[in-house]
Amino acid sequence: MENTISGIATALVESGIGIIRISGSQAVEIAGKILRTKGGRPLDIRESHRIRYGFVFDGEKEIDEVLVSTFLAPKSFTGEDTVEINCHGGILLMQKVFQATLKAGARPAEPGEFSKRAFLNGRIDLSQAEAVADLIAAKSEDSIRSSLSLLQGSLKEKIKRMRSRILEDTAFIEAALDDPEHISLDGFSEQCQGHVEEILSDIQELLKHQREGRLLKEGIQTVIVGKPNAGKSSLLNCLVKADKAIVSNIPGTTRDTVEEDIRIGSLSLHLIDTAGIRETEDIVEEIGVNRAKEGIEKADCVLLVLDGSLPLEEEDRKILALLEGKKAVVLLNKMDKESILQKEELEKLSGFPVLPISAKEGRGMEELGQKLEELFYTGSLSFSTETYIHSERQIAALEEAKSALELVLEGIRLKLSEDFLSIDLMGAYSALGRILGEDVSEDLINEIFAKFCMGK
Ligand code: GDP
Repeated sequence: MENTISGIATALVESGIGIIRISGSQAVEIAGKILRTKGGRPLDIRESHRIRYGFVFDGEKEIDEVLVSTFLAPKSFTGEDTVEINCHGGILLMQKVFQATLKAGARPAEPGEFSKRAFLNGRIDLSQAEAVADLIAAKSEDSIRSSLSLLQGSLKEKIKRMRSRILEDTAFIEAALDDPEHISLDGFSEQCQGHVEEILSDIQELLKHQREGRLLKEGIQTVIVGKPNAGKSSLLNCLVKADKAIVSNIPGTTRDTVEEDIRIGSLSLHLIDTAGIRETEDIVEEIGVNRAKEGIEKADCVLLVLDGSLPLEEEDRKILALLEGKKAVVLLNKMDKESILQKEELEKLSGFPVLPISAKEGRGMEELGQKLEELFYTGSLSFSTETYIHSERQIAALEEAKSALELVLEGIRLKLSEDFLSIDLMGAYSALGRILGEDVSEDLINEIFAKFCMGK
């Protein structure tokens, strides 16, 4: 019974229902041991793709009223016999049902083991498996959409098309070398060059979107900068709507950085609040300044907070100078007070959009959301239906395929013999295959699935 695993498939939080999933050749037998009908008879769950109503028992003790679905191999997510018990969503309750499945003979699933089995049984390819992991971890709706499209196999289809074109050319070379009397390689190089150039441009297209892939997955790295007391912590608070950052009116009290994931409009931001940028003897303050500089360098987006009730100071100008080449919005804070700084003048001076806000009163946040959407949607970023790759592994494999194909083009230019071309073509073929999980070592597979959480 070692091979039959059980796990809590839903999140361990209070919720409407919780699902305990059992998969393996003994799944039906194990689940059968703990399930009974209302009348106390054993519940018959042998028929596939049916939902039944019953009760879970731990020995003679009734634990919960449940719905049970059976999916017999190979028509299940894992490709094995699978039983899913839908119980009520209390944390303790889910654990009790889970424990009962273990007592009945299942062993606890390792993180990602269900998906790993699905992969090993050929139910999903590796790009789809990674999409499952991303889907579980997805932080924004766009990220979910992109993972879903991967899951539906959009990457898989693209890679498969590229591979079959490569394979055709390789097969042609091999056939011609085998049977030179009947198959001629005249004119083949030009034809092959055309194919390879097409595939290279497809690969380039995929690689081009890797940055957007990261933005979707991790959120837009956004740093909040400004001199002490401008209102950075207040802005962060206002955006997070929770008092995590300490707000005070002693300049420079936000020594450390505070980080938060938030949603604004349809974007997800990873927000970092830094200490004010200030040249000072104070060592702690200096660390803060350096952090801000580093923060700006690494950020996808910068929010500069200025105190609109004070004239522009040297410090403000210094920070503005650091923003060159960045996507940034200048926030004219404290609009509830009398304003000295003018939006239009600042816009001219800085070259960035300027928005009056009041972090204290929470005003201007909607406009900020719109501004950010404008900045990120109208640029190169379109979150629509593109295929985004975002795993390092996939990027590395694509890069390798690209290098191999460039060698093919080089070979054609140097008029190398076709068997050399075929070696590099096969190199590209197997690199692309790794994205779908071919030729990957067992370690790599284990590594990928270990990233999953329990029960997936
Ligand atoms: P930080 O040093 O840049 O993080 O600034 P804080 O967020 O700690 O704010 C400094 C002071 O300015 C606090 O006393 C805040 O209450 C005040 N403050 C922040 N935003 C506003 C605002 O929009 N209007 C007004 N009137 N005061 C604000």
